[in-house]
Amino acid sequence: MNTPTLAAERISIIGAGPGGLTCARILQQRGIPVTVYDRDTDSSTRNQGGSLDLHEEDGQLALREAGLLDEFFALARMEGQEMRMLDTTGEVLVSRMPDDDDTFAPEIDRGHLRELLLRSLEPGTVRWNRALESVTGPDSGPRSLVFADGSIVETDLVIGADGASSRVRPAVSDATPSYTGVSFLEAWFDDLDTSHPELAAMIGAGSALASDGDRALFAQRNSGDHMRVYIARREALNWMAEHDLRPDDTSAIRAHLLQEFSDWSPETLRMITDNDGAYVDRPLFALPAPHVWAPSPTVTLLGDAAHLMPPAGIGVNLAMLDACELALALAEADTVDQALRNYESTMFPRSSERAVELDGHADFLLDMGGPDALAGPPEMQR
Ligand SMILES: Cc1cc2nc3c(=O)[nH]c(=O)nc-3n(C[C@H](O)[C@H](O)[C@H](O)COP(=O)(O)OP(=O)(O)OC[C@H]3O[C@@H](n4cnc5c(N)ncnc54)[C@H](O)[C@@H]3O)c2cc1C
Repeated sequence: MNTPTLAAERISIIGAGPGGLTCARILQQRGIPVTVYDRDTDSSTRNQGGSLDLHEEDGQLALREAGLLDEFFALARMEGQEMRMLDTTGEVLVSRMPDDDDTFAPEIDRGHLRELLLRSLEPGTVRWNRALESVTGPDSGPRSLVFADGSIVETDLVIGADGASSRVRPAVSDATPSYTGVSFLEAWFDDLDTSHPELAAMIGAGSALASDGDRALFAQRNSGDHMRVYIARREALNWMAEHDLRPDDTSAIRAHLLQEFSDWSPETLRMITDNDGAYVDRPLFALPAPHVWAPSPTVTLLGDAAHLMPPAGIGVNLAMLDACELALALAEADTVDQALRNYESTMFPRSSERAVELDGHADFLLDMGGPDALAGPPEMQR
C-alpha cells in the first residue's frame, strides 16, 4: 500500500463520465486525493443519453468496489432487463424475460448513474467548464493540462477518461478514431404508455430490436415513461448533405427514412414516424484494434479514450471496470509507474480481445438475420 506517497501526487482525471467518476470515487475511498475536470458547464448541462445496462462481471463489480451497489439497485430498472427481438413486421421472434431475482444487467439512465457517482464524491472534486485542449510537458513529468479557457494546471498523473475524442490520447498514442460506416439516428418518445401505446406494447418493459441486414431499429425504455430509438443504417458520414437534408428539418429526414425502410410494416415504422422532437445524428466511430501504447509514468487512458468500439452494450461496463482496476492498482502499487503498468497489462488484452472481435466494423448492428438470428446481437447472447 502506497497511500502516503500517492497522497502527495497531483492526480488529474479528465472527464466526468462513468469511467472518470468511478475512478475518482474509488481513489477517494482509499484516501488518495484527485481532481476531475470536465468540459460540461455543470452536471446537468446536456442530456446524458440513453439507458445503460450494468453487467454483474464489470459495471456492477466496479460499483461494489465503490460501495455504491445497493444505491444502484435502488435506482435501477430491473424489469428493463427484458429484451425482445422483432422481425420487420413487429412480430416477436425472441423474448428474454428476466426472473424476479435476475440481476445480470439492470438498466439505469445515464444521467442517474452520473448523479449517483457525483453524490459519492467529496465536494469540489469536479471542476466543471474546463475543456482540455492538450497535455504538454515531459514524459517523466510534471505534466501541464492546457485548457480551452487559457488556464494551465500542473499535475503529476493524467488519467484520460475523456471519451471518444480524447484530448489526452495524443500524449501517448497517434491513433485516431475512424468512421465505421454505420450511423445511428436517435429518436425520442415522451409519455410512451399513454401517447404511444402500440409501441409500448411492441417493445415490452425493456428493449427491443429489429433488423433486416442493412438497417436496424433499437428501442429502449428510459425512466419517466420515455423511450429512445436508435435508427441504424449504413451511410456516408456526410449523408445529410449528400441528400440535401438539414439536421433541423425533421419532416424531410423522416421522408428520407421512410424510403429507406419502405419494406418494413407500418406498425414497426411507428418507431421512425411517431417520435417527439428532432432526430439526433450519431455516426459511430472506432479506434484501430488493438489499440495499445508504450508505457508512460505520467499518462494513461481508460474507457472510450483507450478503446473506442462500435456500441455492443459493453462500453460503459468496460470503462467502469478499467476505472476500478486503475484506482485499485494505484492504491496497491509501490510507485505510480508500477501501478500504470499493472493496470495496462490487464486492460490491454481485455479491451483488445473485444475490439478485435468487433474489428472496428459496426455491420453486426445491422445484421441479426441469417442462421444466428435467434442468438441475436452480442448483448442478447449473454
Ligand atoms: C449511440 C450510443 C449508444 C450506446 N449505448 C451503450 C449501451 O447501451 N451500453 C453501453 O455499455 N455502452 C453504450 N455506448 C457506449 C458508452 O456510451 C461508452 O462506452 C461509455 O460512455 C464510455 O464511458 P467513458 O467514461 O469512457 O466516456 P464518456 O461517457 O464519453 O465520458 C467522457 C467525459 O469526458 C468529458 N470530456 C470529453 N472531452 C473533454 C475535454 N476535452 N475536456 C474535458 N472533458 C471532456 C465529457 O463531457 C464526458 O463527461 C453507446 C455509445 C453510443 C455512441
